[in-house]
Amino acid sequence: MSIDTSAPGTGLRLPFPDDAVYVDGNWQVPADAAPIEVIDPATEEVLATVPESGPDVARRAVDAATRAFAEWSRTPVTQRVDYLRALADAMEAESEGLATVAAREIGMPVRDARGGQVALPVNVLRSVGEIALGHLWEYRDAAGNTVCHEPIGVVVAITPWNFPVHQIIAKLAPALAAGCTLVLKPAETTPLNALYLAALFDRVGIPGGVVNVVTGTGPITGEALLAGGGYDLVSFTGSLAVGRHIGATAGQDIVRATLELGGKSPAIVLDDADLEAAVTTTVRNCFVNAGQKCNAPTRLLVPAARLDDAVEIAARAAEEYVLGDPLDADTTMGPLASAEQLDKVTRKVVEARERGVRVATGGQRAERSRGYYFEPTIVTDVDVHDPIWTEEVFGPVLIVHPYRDADDALALAHDTEYGLSAEVWSGDPAAAAALARRLRAGQVRVNGVRTAGLPVSPFGGYKRSGLGRELGAYGLTEFIEVKAILGDPLL
Ligand code: NAP
Ligand code: MG
Repeated sequence: MSIDTSAPGTGLRLPFPDDAVYVDGNWQVPADAAPIEVIDPATEEVLATVPESGPDVARRAVDAATRAFAEWSRTPVTQRVDYLRALADAMEAESEGLATVAAREIGMPVRDARGGQVALPVNVLRSVGEIALGHLWEYRDAAGNTVCHEPIGVVVAITPWNFPVHQIIAKLAPALAAGCTLVLKPAETTPLNALYLAALFDRVGIPGGVVNVVTGTGPITGEALLAGGGYDLVSFTGSLAVGRHIGATAGQDIVRATLELGGKSPAIVLDDADLEAAVTTTVRNCFVNAGQKCNAPTRLLVPAARLDDAVEIAARAAEEYVLGDPLDADTTMGPLASAEQLDKVTRKVVEARERGVRVATGGQRAERSRGYYFEPTIVTDVDVHDPIWTEEVFGPVLIVHPYRDADDALALAHDTEYGLSAEVWSGDPAAAAALARRLRAGQVRVNGVRTAGLPVSPFGGYKRSGLGRELGAYGLTEFIEVKAILGDPLL
């Protein structure tokens, strides 16, 4: 085992061993763990390997988190927040390293990785720290009894590959601030950033066992964690199918589960909206991270009379993307994150076309000598029973669809099992805001507005987009258990 390895031939500096997991404050080499290859989606070459953790490692990690909970849960919140601030500082100091690993491992353009995988999670760490300091941990209720907010306990966090650092920190920051301890299983395709973070937990001296990182696949490592028990909350971000399974497993043991799942989000353009701005911004919002974004607006709803114009504007915006090396400053769209993802997206678009969906631009794997690139794609003439309308595609594919009137637009927007987010465009912001109030979605954006970069507004889904919320005060609440003390002389 070696620390500070460089993955051979890749030029990547990885400040952690390539054969170990981070458990109980140590890098531990699991016995008999098969190595999992991490592939660079832009080159199709092996970037590094990580171990596949089995039931033994999962057990050790949960045991370490259980032991650490006794001390950590009693550590004053001010000290816990100091660790979060130190971690934020350490991430900032390592920002180029973290952004480069994210760009290589996910295929995300490096300038987006600097924002979404470093600046954003750093802001989350700091904002959650402030919220935890201001949180009312004990108060008297109307009956004169004390209500105590306490950490729920040991948390198992299972995260996906599309915005991996953000998705990890969105769980870790509130969990640690609340006094919980954590076992994290990052996605199989993007474990390097999670191990990079573990090196930073170690560097800033977060006590051993408070955060444990075990790498491996869902079916082996994820299942071992779930089946092993000993945790009080499972916090999951990923697909509806796996979320159902995790929620059911947790339910059997009366363990709380928070689920951040998929989306099929609408963008409604009202008759009086600036069509050019609405359509080009929706294309950009949809194609962030090559469309691998749970809250991407993937169904653009426009007045029927403006459909042709909208398709033309969208196709033009899509054709402006520069596909290339994620590390190249000019690249605006990288490859999809894995060969599996490229196969899924290609199959969904090709099959939709065979069923009569019209492809206005794109529609196939991009012609390049290597890498999992897919062309930015605009489709129309979509039947609302077509799988491309009902299922997530999770690639750079936008549907442009006509509506008759405002009620029809709302019905189409709601014609999905998901309810993660929505966007509304109008020349009259008050009309848009009124429509926002009628939409069943966890976040609604009016006229593409970008608010201050303070990630405290609740994020999460109505309907099958999930259970619970992340970020801000609501995110903290998910990690809190509530106790009433009757006849308490202390408060
Ligand atoms: P996924 O297949 O559900 O995987 C998510 C995580 O669950 C991964 O770590 C995965 O491991 C693990 N997993 C898979 N099977 C498991 C099992 N049987 N037991 C325990 N863990 C298991 O999702 P994905 O395809 O990686 O991610 C894309 C999905 O996430 C999309 O549906 C997207 O909408 C959703 N998403 C939602 C949000 C949100 O906040 N609402 C944010 C981002 C993404 P492996 O990596 O080994 O498969
Ligand atoms: Mg998966």
